[in-house]
Amino acid sequence: MKLHETLLSTQQDKSNGINGYSHDEIGDDHLFSGLDTPMKANAFEMPDAEKKYRIAGHFAEIMDILGLDLNDDSLQGTPDRVAKMYVEEIFSGLNPENKPRVALFDNKYQYKQMLVEKNITLFSNCEHHFVPIMGVAHVAYISSGKVIGLSKLNRIVHYYAKRPQVQERLTNQIASELIEVLNTKDVAVIIDARHLCVSSRGVEDNSSSTVTTYYGGKFNAPDKIRELQNFIHHGI
Ligand SMILES: [Zn+2]
Repeated sequence: MKLHETLLSTQQDKSNGINGYSHDEIGDDHLFSGLDTPMKANAFEMPDAEKKYRIAGHFAEIMDILGLDLNDDSLQGTPDRVAKMYVEEIFSGLNPENKPRVALFDNKYQYKQMLVEKNITLFSNCEHHFVPIMGVAHVAYISSGKVIGLSKLNRIVHYYAKRPQVQERLTNQIASELIEVLNTKDVAVIIDARHLCVSSRGVEDNSSSTVTTYYGGKFNAPDKIRELQNFIHHGI
């Protein structure tokens, strides 16, 4: 069976969905199957150069099927550009090699309060529609004795955002990475984002945004959550 036939037959097999929902319904309601990005075991056996070459070929095919004239000067370079953008930029966070290396420092100042890095610009893509998710992430932690360079917080957010995502999973992936590198459960992540698949198609709602949160350890208390919210909504 060829790949597209396999895909077609799974699309038609409604019994394969989640909790009785079909794959169409799962995509439109943005249900998801787990906290890990679903990856094939051999995901990184193929070199990036071959990935780009093959994606460009398939993307050219999609454009051709849509009826676009690939001989047009404006369109000719698009398949290569899209392939490069997928592999090197917007989906580069699939590859563990691109994970930011994080150095920890001793908490010399003995700063024991929460540290909040707010309004981190977030660009991701919905794994159900492959269109952008855009918003901000706020991350916070209370040091267990070690601290992390501030820019690394942004880099961790960006790494996990550069995957086909669902917002809940993205929130949890950032949180579990922070828990691991900072060696503390006292971690919070808030993401407030707009999904182009909601605003530009489907229900076409241009004013709603989606907020997801992770409150771990000491952040799991109403006064800490209030303090965190104060930092996020006020200040400079
Ligand atoms: Zn979507």
